[in-house]
Amino acid sequence: MNDLPEEEDLAERKMRFLFALRSKGVTDARVLGAMERVDRGLFVKGLFADRAYEDMPLPIACGQTISQPSVVGLMTQALRPGPRDTVLEVGTGSGYQAAVLAGLVRRVYTVDRHRRLAREAEDLFRTLHIPNIVTIAGDGSRGLPDQAPFDRILVTAAAEDPPGPLLSQLKIGGIMVLPVGQSDTVQSLIRVRRLDTGFDYEELRPVRFVPLVEGMASD
Ligand code: SAH
Repeated sequence: MNDLPEEEDLAERKMRFLFALRSKGVTDARVLGAMERVDRGLFVKGLFADRAYEDMPLPIACGQTISQPSVVGLMTQALRPGPRDTVLEVGTGSGYQAAVLAGLVRRVYTVDRHRRLAREAEDLFRTLHIPNIVTIAGDGSRGLPDQAPFDRILVTAAAEDPPGPLLSQLKIGGIMVLPVGQSDTVQSLIRVRRLDTGFDYEELRPVRFVPLVEGMASD
């Protein structure tokens, strides 16, 4: 007998979700814990909401996509976020990645060029009582000079090369994770570390992201 079918479903869905993350290489316990605490279903609206717990990217408003959970996990893990870090995320989208980061660091600044996405994500962070995310509508390829420098920068849209303003807004000892490459082909996820003497680049894996577009969108 199963008296609590819905709760059982939820627990089982969560277990499958975490299992999928682990099997794709998300092994960091802090990252898995943070992802367990953020319900991806709240960040996917409409038609695709019932697929929120599957390991796939899904469409969101403004023709954008919420990344695949395992990619969110691998990027978060690659960023090596620390509890005292201030992080810049470029590409708020649904707000899911920012919410995961917020459980791991001191403060997250997240920027999107679509005002609508920034506004909807901000509303969701407020509803969920996540206090340490600052959401900004803006062109994130320029970074946020007023809030810089950052301990960590995560870019969730693909540029051909790491944008210069983002490199210069990274602290010495800081880490930036971003996809680079042409938007219609396979891109590479790379990790950039800022050293005293310059930058160290490391290629992590092939990925596919929407393009980083300069300037504000019209909506
Ligand atoms: N991190 C998101 C997924 C991002 S999809 C999530 O967790 O759901 C990529 C996002 O990057 C899109 O919302 C797109 O509008 C945004 N974007 C693209 N170019 C940008 C730019 N120059 N500045 C800010 N945001 C940008």
